[in-house]
Amino acid sequence: MLWDQHACVELVETADLGDLRRYRPAGGGLVSVNVGYAPHGPAVTASLLRAFRSQVERIDGLALAADVDDVDRIAGAGDTAVVFDLEDCAPLGGDLDAVGMLVAQGVRTLAPTYNHANIAGSGCLDTADDGLTAWGRDLVRELNRRGVVPDGSHVGARTATDMCAVSTRPVVYSHSNVRAVWDHPRNITDDQARAAADTGGVIGITGVGIFLGPNTPTLSAMSRHLEHAVEVVGIEHVGVSTDFSFDWETFREVLATSPELYDASYTAWGPVQWMPPETFLDLGAHLRDRGWHDGDVAAVLGGNFRRVARESWHPLL
Ligand SMILES: [Zn+2]
Repeated sequence: MLWDQHACVELVETADLGDLRRYRPAGGGLVSVNVGYAPHGPAVTASLLRAFRSQVERIDGLALAADVDDVDRIAGAGDTAVVFDLEDCAPLGGDLDAVGMLVAQGVRTLAPTYNHANIAGSGCLDTADDGLTAWGRDLVRELNRRGVVPDGSHVGARTATDMCAVSTRPVVYSHSNVRAVWDHPRNITDDQARAAADTGGVIGITGVGIFLGPNTPTLSAMSRHLEHAVEVVGIEHVGVSTDFSFDWETFREVLATSPELYDASYTAWGPVQWMPPETFLDLGAHLRDRGWHDGDVAAVLGGNFRRVARESWHPLL
């Protein structure tokens, strides 16, 4: 099973989710599709969830998953299970009760902040990080209670480490590479990785060029980040996510026109390059060529994030 913990389509109701069929690994899989981030409020996110869910229900080869048994059944048939994630708490509109509605619509992972501070805490591009706020602590507890996985990607280092201390369930970095291999503000330190692993969480190494190296979305660059993460936190705590933008042209425009969300670390190496799903599908073979054992490849490509889901999701609450 290939488990992509974070991928992006254009955040408009008319986005074509048929593109997700580009993930067709032989053993089936899962993709967590982003359905909102910092600029979005509750109404936009609810509308996107409705539109995306109804598309997935109609598209052959894709199916909505509510729990891990669903994922196993869908992947077992060679299809791609779809769940959703959020980057930033803005889609909650400051209301913790909104978490329950989002869970009912398939959201399974949430990062409290997106690059910059909000009511929950600080972002990874902020110069100062005062840690998780009192509201942010309540948010992590509500995520635990509702079966949503707290996500440290885009979150400031201190805020994310506070999340690990508060959370009673695994905390993940859904799409974050390691700073020891490539020094980028979106990448995480070894200490951040260890704190998440101590909760039972997983570090999802991504295929985005500017986070892998000087805009180099290659399998060998991805393997270097994976191998460092495995060395630091162990094979049970490392996973993968493409962070692929199916709407890459739109995303490049957003980068150029939204200085309030991004800084020069996103544009200093030219237009962002992503690893396409077709290349990502070859990652297992590439790792085996580097001497990885089959069991380790399976854990990193799917088994570890599946374990976090098994320990965290309980959507019937
Ligand atoms: Zn992201």
